[in-house]
Amino acid sequence: MKTEDAKVLRDKLALWFVANGRTLPWRSKPDPYAVLVSEFMLQQTQVVSVIPFFKRWMERFPDLKTLADAPESEVLLLWQGLGYYSRARNLQRAAQMVLSRFEGRIPNNPIDLRALPGVGAYTAGAIACFGYDRPAPAVDANIARVLARLSNQQAQVDTAEGARLLWELAEVLLPEGSGGRQHTSALMELGALVCLPKNPKCLLCPIQRECRATEPETLPRKSPRRSTVALEENAAWITSGKDVLLEQQMGRRSRGLWKFPTFFNKASPLPLFETVYPFTHHKVTLRVYEASAPEVLPTNQRWFALSSVLDEVALPAGHRRALVALIGADAGTLSQEIKPTEDGI
Ligand code: SF4
Repeated sequence: MKTEDAKVLRDKLALWFVANGRTLPWRSKPDPYAVLVSEFMLQQTQVVSVIPFFKRWMERFPDLKTLADAPESEVLLLWQGLGYYSRARNLQRAAQMVLSRFEGRIPNNPIDLRALPGVGAYTAGAIACFGYDRPAPAVDANIARVLARLSNQQAQVDTAEGARLLWELAEVLLPEGSGGRQHTSALMELGALVCLPKNPKCLLCPIQRECRATEPETLPRKSPRRSTVALEENAAWITSGKDVLLEQQMGRRSRGLWKFPTFFNKASPLPLFETVYPFTHHKVTLRVYEASAPEVLPTNQRWFALSSVLDEVALPAGHRRALVALIGADAGTLSQEIKPTEDGI
């Protein structure tokens, strides 16, 4: 694309964005820390779902230092409901690294930003753009769709070659000097509101004249999806008086979270509760059975008061759902099954 064509396209996008862009809490007063938080939350989660979590987070952790110094258990608790807890841990480690390595100032260029844990090419570009208004390319799913259609790109966008073509086009379209914030927001918003995955609103699109897509709904092309794998998880509901027994997780993905202990008795009666929840490309069926306490508690198990456990610890989605239902049952209000959500582990 020629420089003058890129400018025409940018101007059209800017005009459209001024009239149609949504007001989002992290856009209203751009500050690099707020952008860092919002970008971590938006990885794998939609804007509307993120807004209440973002507001709550900023009240509790209004700056890098507060976040860096907070106990990890509290960070995970505030993240609960967003899923993919490794993002919360990385966000806290990123805050700690900014304080120790960058004198408390979040870097303004993608190269330094990529040194932070959990910051990939997109997040680095987004922080440089939205936090500092720099013209840095940032290609998320919405922008990838717009760019693939704009250029009628047939290469699969999740291959190295397809991604390279998209990032090159994103770079060509950038304004010079500054203005990255508005430009990238406009492209992203066009993908979210007009250039939709299904039924794109091409007749309302400000860059329809420049768009080369002949069959927009077939773009962007992607490699075939990994099929979903079914998993089963049997958990134990162990109570003593007004307490419930939980077990702290140590694995890479779920370190710091709490779950029901594993239930090992195969000749079991009917489960007290059953639900299905998604976890990456798995579909997990969780069954919870009544069980007795072990004679000696393993070091990673602890009793929690039923009255406050939901406010105190972070649990994977399915376990939290089970706990809510079983505490309700204890109070005589058990509702049978609760619909699965998309929040994973
Ligand atoms: S014209 Fe249609 S396909 Fe092309 S960018 Fe606009 S909405 Fe997307």
